[in-house]
Amino acid sequence: MSTSEVRTRIAPSPTGYLHLGTARTALYSWAYARHHGGTFVLRIEDTDVARSTQDSVEQILTSLQWLGLQHDEGPIYQMQRLARYHAVVEQMIAAGTAYRCYATPEELNAMRDAQRARGEKTLYDRRWRPALGKTLPPPPVGVNPVVRFANPVDGVVTWRDFVKGPISIRNEEIDDLIILRQDAVPTYNFAVVVDDWDMAITHVFRGDEHINNTPWQINLFNALGAPLPLFGHCPVILGDDGHKLSKRRGAVSVTAYRDNGYLPEALLNYLARLGWSHGDEELFTPAQMVQWFDGSHLAKSPAQWDPAKLAWVNAHHIKHAADDRLALLVQEQLSRRGVAAANVAVLARAAALFKDRCSTTVELADWAAMLFVPVAAIEADRSQFLTDAVRPALQFLRERLGHIEWTPAAIAAALKETLAAHAPLKMGQLAPALRVLVCGRAQTPSIDAVLALFERSAVLSRLQAF
Ligand code: GLU
Repeated sequence: MSTSEVRTRIAPSPTGYLHLGTARTALYSWAYARHHGGTFVLRIEDTDVARSTQDSVEQILTSLQWLGLQHDEGPIYQMQRLARYHAVVEQMIAAGTAYRCYATPEELNAMRDAQRARGEKTLYDRRWRPALGKTLPPPPVGVNPVVRFANPVDGVVTWRDFVKGPISIRNEEIDDLIILRQDAVPTYNFAVVVDDWDMAITHVFRGDEHINNTPWQINLFNALGAPLPLFGHCPVILGDDGHKLSKRRGAVSVTAYRDNGYLPEALLNYLARLGWSHGDEELFTPAQMVQWFDGSHLAKSPAQWDPAKLAWVNAHHIKHAADDRLALLVQEQLSRRGVAAANVAVLARAAALFKDRCSTTVELADWAAMLFVPVAAIEADRSQFLTDAVRPALQFLRERLGHIEWTPAAIAAALKETLAAHAPLKMGQLAPALRVLVCGRAQTPSIDAVLALFERSAVLSRLQAF
């Protein structure tokens, strides 16, 4: 691939949230531009007026921003470029590479029925396409024409896809594409070509559902005398049931992953690996990816979405995330549950203590919640650990905890003292009892560190409850 003046783009249609496949394409486009010191453009393809919404635009912008896939140019909205598309259409009509077609939907249906009856492919029969020696009927009154591209009638379209390798399609397989609809709105294949041309895009990364569109687009570039970008079509992402990841099959938006406690760098890391590799590297930062992502080692075959692997990747990034950043994320998770946790310093200490055992910030919030809301251990834990043997020791300890300095070291010393005074009681009996009463569960990290996270008064009152 050329390394000079790389310009890539992501061109989502605002007809829903930013889904994972588009997020991956955005990541590849962004990383490729960054790797080469190039430019990453954001274009909003809003020509499907009936299905595009402002809400989707905002969701897309928010998702890209959260992921950190910062664009250098845009957002450019296609519906604000109608005058440009119309001008190009007029040029093409004048040059003979496009023409008005007045065929009504009824006529086209009849045409296709007849083709089917003859066992032929249903392709537009070029009835309105001007040709030497052909006399066209006068345009019918009252029919608003569409404009069609005069696609080459023979020959082969070939490109070297930088993901899939060489691809060829014969022109006789494709027909004269509508480029401007009756309502004067351009179709996807036309707008995308004018835009990629005007925005000097050099590398198009997109999903392989667009492979069938690429021959038309290449023919359009050629008809316009525009330089061709390179195309790379990434395979679909499969759901864990082996079918294409889709909303119906439980795929969720990028923002849903944010809300479910995933870190953006973890989602990027995981998405990157679904279709690309760098040796055996499984865990990396966005900066490392930018350093490595040179357009090679893109996978030709589809990868499967694996929630367990994503959770593993997220756990790694949580472990490496700064505690004060995690504190704010946990605070947000707690506030969604209606738990006010204003003490960010305590949350940061909690993050440091619990992050090694969490896959998401939701799990981190599950731990931190005990600092702010009353806890109740399950009955089985209460009856197993809150025994008569441990009761006097807990009362003794409670007394001690009332007077010591409130630090893990002093709490540890008080625990030792308690055990010494209650031989043969073991730490293995005392600590779980404390955990059940104070934390509501029998297992936690080191009990002295955990107790020190709480307000002293909270620990004393929870111990009194036994
Ligand atoms: N708007 C198209 C989509 O969302 C973009 C395809 C392309 O990148 O050319 O799939």
